[in-house]
Amino acid sequence: MAIEFQGVTKKYPDGTVAVDDLSLTVEDGTITVFVGPSGCGKTTSLRMINRMVEPTSGTVLLDGKDIRESDPALLRRGIGYVIQHAGLFPHRTVLDNVATVPLLSGGNKAQARARANELLETVGLPAGLGKRYPAQLSGGQQQRVGVARALAADSPVLLMDEPFSAVDPVVREELQDELLRLQSQLGKTIVFVTHDIDEAVRLGDRIAVLRVGGKLAQYGTPSEVLRQ
Ligand code: ADP
Ligand code: ADP
Repeated sequence: MAIEFQGVTKKYPDGTVAVDDLSLTVEDGTITVFVGPSGCGKTTSLRMINRMVEPTSGTVLLDGKDIRESDPALLRRGIGYVIQHAGLFPHRTVLDNVATVPLLSGGNKAQARARANELLETVGLPAGLGKRYPAQLSGGQQQRVGVARALAADSPVLLMDEPFSAVDPVVREELQDELLRLQSQLGKTIVFVTHDIDEAVRLGDRIAVLRVGGKLAQYGTPSEVLRQ
């Protein structure tokens, strides 16, 4: 499912221009990485795809449809979203963190838990950890649960905001490999935000380089971007 930014600008109420006239198409079935230094508008760009942030001007289209025509809460629920510290509910077990999503979309509890178990296996979480609480997992394991929860939305689109930045380098590489493996099976449209150019090159089918002030500086395949 393609995502199209058409002349999108976000100016926050205090006057900060976070994203400046962004026009870009995230192609269907690609991992497109938004990369650039802190404050260049990566998170803002990502959050304009699921209406957590509304553009000041311009249009975002999802599969050719203006997202302003979609109810924001439904849109958010239907798009997988992974953040840096996983954002798991601390007072729910790992299994229930993931099962919450299929429950919300109307499944019964047993089905939701079965689906959650499947997804935890998909992301390579050791069996048996589903009963634990998030704080009883390592950082890398928590991120895997975050990915499983995002996959539970069963959406063709997955938004990932620095999902691997808080884990140590060895685990980060494992998680990157896992994402590439998953993507070769699932073929989702993934928008991945990172400040790490090596990570961008490793994961991206396409790379969008932003610079502070929110302007798109470069866009292309990793080799095209590195060549410039
Ligand atoms: P990045 O993800 O690349 O670090 P952000 O999209 O978080 O960048 O932020 C882009 C710019 O917008 C920064 O200058 C940041 O301080 C500013 N910003 C982000 N969120 C808000 C907000 N809610 N209100 C005001 N300014 C914001
Ligand atoms: P709030 O409305 O208070 O921000 P939500 O119930 O929307 O809280 O989200 C709770 C937590 O789940 C947050 O950490 C948020 O980042 C995360 N979250 C929200 N939507 C999704 C989603 N579609 N997939 C995965 N995690 C999500």
